[in-house]
Amino acid sequence: MRIMNFCSQCGARVAQRIPAGDNVARYVCDACGTIHYRTELVVGCVPEHEGAIVLCRRAIEPRHGFWTVRQASWRTARRCSRRRHANRSRRR
Ligand SMILES: [Zn+2]
Repeated sequence: MRIMNFCSQCGARVAQRIPAGDNVARYVCDACGTIHYRTELVVGCVPEHEGAIVLCRRAIEPRHGFWTVRQASWRTARRCSRRRHANRSRRR
Protein backbone atom coordinates (compact mmCIF):
# COMPACT_ATOMS: atom_id res chain seq x y z
CA MET A 1 0.00 0.00 0.00
CA ARG A 2 1.32 3.45 -0.87
CA ILE A 3 1.96 5.77 2.05
CA MET A 4 -0.61 8.54 2.43
CA ASN A 5 0.01 11.49 4.76
CA PHE A 6 -2.77 13.94 3.90
CA CYS A 7 -6.45 13.68 3.01
CA SER A 8 -7.18 14.27 -0.68
CA GLN A 9 -10.61 15.72 0.28
CA CYS A 10 -9.67 18.36 2.88
CA GLY A 11 -5.86 18.35 3.23
CA ALA A 12 -5.78 17.34 6.93
CA ARG A 13 -3.35 14.69 8.21
CA VAL A 14 -4.68 11.10 7.98
CA ALA A 15 -4.13 8.15 10.33
CA GLN A 16 -3.97 4.47 9.42
CA ARG A 17 -6.39 2.22 11.34
CA ILE A 18 -9.21 -0.28 10.87
CA PRO A 19 -12.54 1.59 10.53
CA ALA A 20 -15.62 0.32 12.38
CA GLY A 21 -17.26 -2.54 10.46
CA ASP A 22 -14.16 -3.19 8.36
CA ASN A 23 -11.31 -5.68 8.75
CA VAL A 24 -8.54 -3.95 6.82
CA ALA A 25 -6.40 -0.98 7.88
CA ARG A 26 -7.24 2.14 5.86
CA TYR A 27 -6.13 5.75 5.84
CA VAL A 28 -8.81 7.69 7.74
CA CYS A 29 -9.26 11.45 7.98
CA ASP A 30 -10.59 12.53 11.38
CA ALA A 31 -11.20 16.07 10.11
CA CYS A 32 -13.75 15.23 7.39
CA GLY A 33 -14.47 11.53 8.06
CA THR A 34 -13.26 10.29 4.67
CA ILE A 35 -12.04 6.70 4.57
CA HIS A 36 -9.52 6.28 1.76
CA TYR A 37 -9.89 2.90 0.05
CA ARG A 38 -6.78 1.99 -1.88
CA THR A 39 -6.82 -1.31 -3.65
CA GLU A 40 -4.66 -2.38 -6.51
CA LEU A 41 -7.46 -3.88 -8.56
CA VAL A 42 -11.17 -4.35 -7.88
CA VAL A 43 -13.16 -7.11 -9.52
CA GLY A 44 -16.93 -7.39 -9.61
CA CYS A 45 -19.65 -9.62 -10.92
CA VAL A 46 -23.36 -9.41 -11.61
CA PRO A 47 -24.84 -12.80 -10.65
CA GLU A 48 -28.24 -13.76 -12.07
CA HIS A 49 -30.72 -15.97 -10.21
CA GLU A 50 -34.05 -17.07 -11.72
CA GLY A 51 -34.08 -14.18 -14.17
CA ALA A 52 -33.21 -11.50 -11.61
CA ILE A 53 -29.95 -9.72 -10.87
CA VAL A 54 -28.54 -10.27 -7.38
CA LEU A 55 -27.33 -7.08 -5.69
CA CYS A 56 -25.63 -6.47 -2.34
CA ARG A 57 -26.41 -3.75 0.19
CA ARG A 58 -23.30 -2.06 1.57
CA ALA A 59 -22.75 -2.70 5.30
CA ILE A 60 -19.91 -0.19 5.76
CA GLU A 61 -19.05 3.35 4.74
CA PRO A 62 -18.72 4.89 2.29
CA ARG A 63 -22.32 4.78 1.05
CA HIS A 64 -23.56 2.54 3.89
CA GLY A 65 -26.96 1.05 2.98
CA PHE A 66 -26.64 1.66 -0.79
CA TRP A 67 -27.16 -1.15 -3.30
CA THR A 68 -24.12 -2.31 -5.28
CA VAL A 69 -22.79 -5.19 -7.34
CA ARG A 70 -20.69 -7.82 -5.57
CA GLN A 71 -17.08 -6.69 -5.64
CA ALA A 72 -13.82 -7.25 -3.87
CA SER A 73 -10.15 -6.52 -4.21
CA TRP A 74 -8.34 -8.87 -6.53
CA ARG A 75 -6.46 -10.44 -3.60
CA THR A 76 -9.67 -11.12 -1.64
CA ALA A 77 -11.41 -12.56 -4.71
CA ARG A 78 -8.44 -14.82 -5.45
CA ARG A 79 -8.30 -16.02 -1.81
CA CYS A 80 -12.05 -16.81 -1.83
CA SER A 81 -11.73 -18.63 -5.14
CA ARG A 82 -8.89 -20.80 -3.79
CA ARG A 83 -10.90 -21.58 -0.60
CA ARG A 84 -13.96 -22.53 -2.69
CA HIS A 85 -11.80 -24.75 -4.90
CA ALA A 86 -10.27 -26.45 -1.81
CA ASN A 87 -13.74 -27.08 -0.32
CA ARG A 88 -14.93 -28.65 -3.60
CA SER A 89 -11.84 -30.87 -3.70
CA ARG A 90 -12.49 -32.11 -0.14
CA ARG A 91 -16.11 -33.05 -0.99
CA ARG A 92 -15.05 -35.32 -3.85
ZN1 LIG B 1 -10.29 14.97 5.16
